[in-house]
Amino acid sequence: MIAPGSWLGLLGGGQLGRMFTMAAQSMGYRVMVLDPGDHSPAGSVADRHLQADYLDREALRAMASRCAAATTEFENVPAESLAFLAQHRVVSPSADAVAVAQDRIREKTFLADNGLDVAPFAVIAGDADLQEARLAPLLPGILKIARLGYDGKGQVRVGTLQEVRTAFASLGGKACVLEKFLDLECEVSVVVARAFDDSVVTWPVAENHHAAGILDISIVPARVPAPLADAARAAAMKVARCLDYRGVLCVEFFVLRDGRLIVNEIAPRPHNSGHYTIDACVTSQFEQQARVLCSLPLGDTQMHCPAVMVNLLGDLWASGEPRWEHVLRHARAKLHLYGKTEARPGRKMGHYTVLADDVGQALATATEIKAMLLADAQSMRAAGAA
Ligand code: ADP
Ligand code: MG
Repeated sequence: MIAPGSWLGLLGGGQLGRMFTMAAQSMGYRVMVLDPGDHSPAGSVADRHLQADYLDREALRAMASRCAAATTEFENVPAESLAFLAQHRVVSPSADAVAVAQDRIREKTFLADNGLDVAPFAVIAGDADLQEARLAPLLPGILKIARLGYDGKGQVRVGTLQEVRTAFASLGGKACVLEKFLDLECEVSVVVARAFDDSVVTWPVAENHHAAGILDISIVPARVPAPLADAARAAAMKVARCLDYRGVLCVEFFVLRDGRLIVNEIAPRPHNSGHYTIDACVTSQFEQQARVLCSLPLGDTQMHCPAVMVNLLGDLWASGEPRWEHVLRHARAKLHLYGKTEARPGRKMGHYTVLADDVGQALATATEIKAMLLADAQSMRAAGAA
């Protein structure tokens, strides 16, 4: 066991890293963050911020010499940096597991090979793959770039083979998957943690609603039949076991109109849809990340009460800082801001979570708060224009 007081290394300086850092620090750990930015959300709360590239050998060596263990907060960290740290220190998740999640082709192949249902898909690596007979059954579909896509970026809806051609070219001719467009009832996700001693736990299922490709709100527990929620939690545990994963992982699912559960994608880290665990559960996904990393026993994932999490995107800042009293005046609403200095449209600046005795009440209050924030932003914009 790596005891409190020890140093932990973190690759990445975003909000996921910030919330990990704060959770680890509250247990007495010290955190060293490697991130190239100068005002990063995690770097600004870390005990030490190494401002360098993720591939910077000197920085990685400094991390390995001080820290007992290291983790990552985003899947696009170079797998070789994790592999380098793993030569010297405990690292979770492993470079191999991260490499699978970094690439939609490997990810979908891995899931299908392990008997998990995925959307029908085809790999498109070059012009030779653009054949009518092969792709017609997948149309209408979504062409997704295999690497580095997120929040709906690197994706194009396509209806015809000609549109696939155009979209493939617009994505730079890089390797893609074409996925059949599915008729969704809803989207859900499960955060799962698996420890070095093979123990594994999941949190309650979140029901996720997106706006413009970005997660907007998560409603927990998801309003789906209990057998479906159980199946999602079982599938998430299966993913973690098949990947021989150590750490916190999120599995995103589609629920189809016919009730089938399809794995959409996996994130080898805590997830936006798991932010509710900070305020609503005995153990948050971030504390659990530290627990796995340090070989502490896994914490209880039980929920205290239903919760609704709402993302705060930079759009809300268009005419100035939002009036936070709309959130703060509610005794059961919890505000989280990530300390980002520059608000851009679509940028995740923070979130709030509303707790209530039933999920309908949590959703009603969360929606009311959002409406107040939006109305304010609109009137500030109107005042600014006048
Ligand atoms: P990202 O990495 O950007 O989150 P996703 O693959 O999760 O990419 O796609 C983003 C969103 O687009 C999904 O949450 C879902 O709403 C929609 N979507 C993606 N693939 C499909 C599909 N095959 N059928 C229907 N909707 C889809
Ligand atoms: Mg997604």
